[in-house]
Amino acid sequence: MHDINALKTLLNEPKEVMITTHHKPDADALGSSLGLAGYLKKKGHRVTVITPSDYPDFLNWMEGNEDVLVYSEKNDALVQRIIGESQVIFCLDFNSLSRIHEMGEYIRQAKGTKVMIDHHLQPEHFADLSFSDTNAAATAELVYDLIKEAGDADLIDTSIGECLYAGIMTDTGSFRHPSTSKNVHLIIADLLHIGVQTSNIHRLIYDSSTELRLRFLGYALKDKLVVLHEYNTAYIAITKEELKAYDSKTGDTEGLVNYALSIEGIVFAALIIDRSEAVKMSFRSVGDFSVNEFAREHFNGGGHKNAAGGMSLDSLEATIDKFERLLPLYKDQLTHASAS
Ligand code: 5GP
Ligand code: MN
Repeated sequence: MHDINALKTLLNEPKEVMITTHHKPDADALGSSLGLAGYLKKKGHRVTVITPSDYPDFLNWMEGNEDVLVYSEKNDALVQRIIGESQVIFCLDFNSLSRIHEMGEYIRQAKGTKVMIDHHLQPEHFADLSFSDTNAAATAELVYDLIKEAGDADLIDTSIGECLYAGIMTDTGSFRHPSTSKNVHLIIADLLHIGVQTSNIHRLIYDSSTELRLRFLGYALKDKLVVLHEYNTAYIAITKEELKAYDSKTGDTEGLVNYALSIEGIVFAALIIDRSEAVKMSFRSVGDFSVNEFAREHFNGGGHKNAAGGMSLDSLEATIDKFERLLPLYKDQLTHASAS
């Protein structure tokens, strides 16, 4: 965290601050942003959180959610103005400006000081100050550590703590991924100490499905799951019509890919969804097989070694076909990969 002194100097008097995070924010993206926003407001800064797209309803409970500005073509001019007027621009939970679509170019050209806080692999160098730790379990963990290093741990109240807890809980897969370090557990102990209601957050995020979302999960697992034992791979592909039939909302497909990975012997799982703008893909693996490399190499994406995403502008059928045709190239890795 070599830039901590520079960050402290930057923030030692009230500033116009904006915080943004990646497209389709998940709990870590939004939780780290709103947790940081809560802290910076307490320090006297004027803070605006802008997301490049909407996000799931199950994140709406976070403190500060009602003030989030969601970018759309309609408010493009307003967003450009805020970015232009911001003295400090925080970029959280992403490391390439392409991840925030239209807003990326506005931020590239902005004169404010850019601060990146992120834990994804292969960061791009667009920020003035970078807090990139690819071993961190979550961006929310990095935000917690930064607040602590700034000597402000006592400013972390339950509202900020709940946002950070949500980010760490989800990015560690509820504390089961190998990224769940001692530091993670120590932070959670601190959050429990200040009164964060952890089981309540678990319920708000994981147990808030609509009936239709659960039936969609049942349909996807029963009729759409493809298991390719030869490659220790399983995938689920979803059409636009299926999304419509189940009235699928932002966030409704989150977690689906993990079911494919939960089959014994499967080391590589994919979820391939025909969205209106492109075919979006989620990749997960256990063990040595790097889905970050796979996503980067073939699907214009990236992420972490065991969790990554990508996209394709081909049709859904062509994307599935390309995915299946790539597997033989990785047969050795997929069949000899150590699963731990
Ligand atoms: P998910 O599959 O949950 O959408 O994403 C898994 C991980 O990969 C997350 O850390 C996410 O930020 C990252 N990710 C998802 N889609 C993309 C993408 O298109 N490009 C890059 N670089 N990362 C992605
Ligand atoms: Mn994250």
